[in-house]
Amino acid sequence: MEEKTVIILGVKYKITDNVPFEDMPDNCDGCMDCTAKTIKLAKIEQNKNSVRDLDCYKRKVLRHEIIHAFLYESGIWSNSGNVTNWGLSEEITDWIAIQFPKMLKVFKEAECVD
Ligand SMILES: [Zn+2]
Repeated sequence: MEEKTVIILGVKYKITDNVPFEDMPDNCDGCMDCTAKTIKLAKIEQNKNSVRDLDCYKRKVLRHEIIHAFLYESGIWSNSGNVTNWGLSEEITDWIAIQFPKMLKVFKEAECVD
């Protein structure tokens, strides 16, 4: 397993990659534990059911889990307005995970991000 640490809104999170399947929650390729301040990524191997570019997929899964941590640490994890817990929503989290690189590129081009 490979580990690294990131700071998310001032809180240290440990990211562990290549976690054995048996040490992951059921049916998860990634998971964020807001109590343990950890993010785990499953050890994924190419097979007939997997996507072609696993590195691309794993980067997206990591962005997804980091965004969950941002939503938690920013206090909107379960206080998400009149949509039922949108901060817990897989839809908005995946949307940000997929869109963020594009947004960052635009932010850089527009020179509105450091
Ligand atoms: Zn999720």
